[in-house]
Amino acid sequence: MRIPIIAGNWKMHNTIDEAVALAKALKDEVAKTDVKVVLCCPFTVLGEVKKAIEGSNIALGAQNMHWEDAGAYTGEISADMLKDHGVDYVIIGHSERRQYFNETDETVNKKVKKALAKDLIPILCVGETLEERESEKTYEIVKSQTLKALENIEKGEVEKLVVAYEPIWAIGTGKTASPEDANAVIAYIREVLKEKYGEETSEIIPIQYGGSVKAANATEIMNQEDIDGALVGGASLKAEEFLAIVNF
Ligand code: PGA
Repeated sequence: MRIPIIAGNWKMHNTIDEAVALAKALKDEVAKTDVKVVLCCPFTVLGEVKKAIEGSNIALGAQNMHWEDAGAYTGEISADMLKDHGVDYVIIGHSERRQYFNETDETVNKKVKKALAKDLIPILCVGETLEERESEKTYEIVKSQTLKALENIEKGEVEKLVVAYEPIWAIGTGKTASPEDANAVIAYIREVLKEKYGEETSEIIPIQYGGSVKAANATEIMNQEDIDGALVGGASLKAEEFLAIVNF
C-alpha cells in the first residue's frame, strides 16, 4: 500500500515571517493525519521552516536544485546545500521551470539522478500542454517525459522516486483534469514504469496529481484508485485550505 503524499508547492511565495506562521499553523493538525505531508518552500525560508516543523511529521522539500555538486554556477543551489537545511524532497522538472527557465528533459534527468544519488526524494513533474491534450498526445508526452527523466537510472536507484502528473493547462487555472481522466493518465504512467522497472518497483512509486487541487475537489481526486496524493500550488498557501486537502 502506497501512503498518499500531499505536497504543498509554495512557488515564489512567503517571506520568513509568513512561512513560519503557515508552517506553525499546520504543524499540530498535520500530526493527526496518516498521509505524508511535505512543504516545498523557497530556498530562503528552508532553514526557518525546518525549525518551525521540528518534532512534527511534516517533511521539508525544495522546488529545484542543480545537478552539479559545486562550482561556478551563479545563482544555483546544490543537493548538499538542500541537505544542509534538512530537506528530504525536491521538486524536479516543474512545468514552470521547463517553460520559463529552459529546463529540458536532459537537465531534468541529470537532476533526478543527482537527487537520488544524494538520498533526496525527487518529485518528478510530467504533464502535457493544452495543445498536446487537444491533439491527443497526452499519453505520448507523459511517456516520453517520464522515460527521458529516468534515462540511465537503474531499478535499485529509482525506488525513492515520486512522480507528479500535472497537466499544464490545469496549473493555476482553476481547471482540473476530471478525476477519471487524471486517474487514467496516472495508471498509464505506472504502466510505463512497470515496463521499464518491473511490476514490483512500479507499485512502490507514488504518483500524485497536481493542477488546481483545492479543498472542494480533493476528496474526489484522492479517492481515485491510482492517484497517490497531490501536488498543491495555490491552495497550499492558506493553512485552512491546505489542511482540508490533507484531511480529504
Ligand atoms: P496549482 O499549482 O495547484 O496552483 O494549480 C500546482 C503546481 O503547479 O504544482
